[in-house]
Amino acid sequence: MRRPFIAGNWKMTQSRAEAVALAQGIVSQQGKTEIEVAIAPPSVYLDAVSQVTKGSAVGLSAQNMYHEANGAFTGEISASMLLDLSCKYVILGHSERRHILGETDADVNRKVHAALAAGLVPIVCVGETLAEREAGNTKSVVQQQFDGSLAGLSNEQMSDVVIAYEPVWAIGTGKVATPDQAEEVHADLRKLLETRYNSNVAAAVRIQYGGSVKPDNAAELLGQPNIDGALVGGASLKVDSFLGIIAAAK
Ligand code: PEP
Repeated sequence: MRRPFIAGNWKMTQSRAEAVALAQGIVSQQGKTEIEVAIAPPSVYLDAVSQVTKGSAVGLSAQNMYHEANGAFTGEISASMLLDLSCKYVILGHSERRHILGETDADVNRKVHAALAAGLVPIVCVGETLAEREAGNTKSVVQQQFDGSLAGLSNEQMSDVVIAYEPVWAIGTGKVATPDQAEEVHADLRKLLETRYNSNVAAAVRIQYGGSVKPDNAAELLGQPNIDGALVGGASLKVDSFLGIIAAAK
């Protein structure tokens, strides 16, 4: 059985006070349940938010990291630094990093290896643009990102990875994939896990959907057989809507 996993990506939003208040609102109402929950504040607020999530049912995630362990990499943050800040997870290869900041599959792959080696759970994002979908290339684009971003992992390592399928055209746009559209890609990803790894890995890996998930569309998406949770942007910035999505996962 795969444990449903809902994660909130706060991106580059919130002041320090807002981040702490948002975390407090979520932590105070989210007890330990069958749903795994994480929040990913901006890196500069990880320390402050970790004081709130400490000992709670809400895990802490970073939004990115660098693959090197330490050294002259101005502005970058290593996996061990994230562990020091009590992070359990790190989002890697988010489409904003791929499309705005030029991250490649090879970059993501180096980060995935470094995160796993350090003991962080990587949430690895894949997803096609609107042009790629309209050209009928969704399956091949997602397969290429899967193969490139997750190259060279052992079966054991892959079992610890969380995949997030996030169609770029659905992120922050209010245009959500239909449950059928999302399930089709999730089922393809599950098949890839089976062919590239094995059936045990395919059965174990959680695949989140991300892209304009809201309390009112979450239940139908999360009800699909291969959708094991959600990576939530906008709707994770309000306590009620984030908790509403968690409730829909139950
Ligand atoms: C995201 O940024 O990962 C995301 C899914 O954003 P939104 O929920 O706002 O579409």
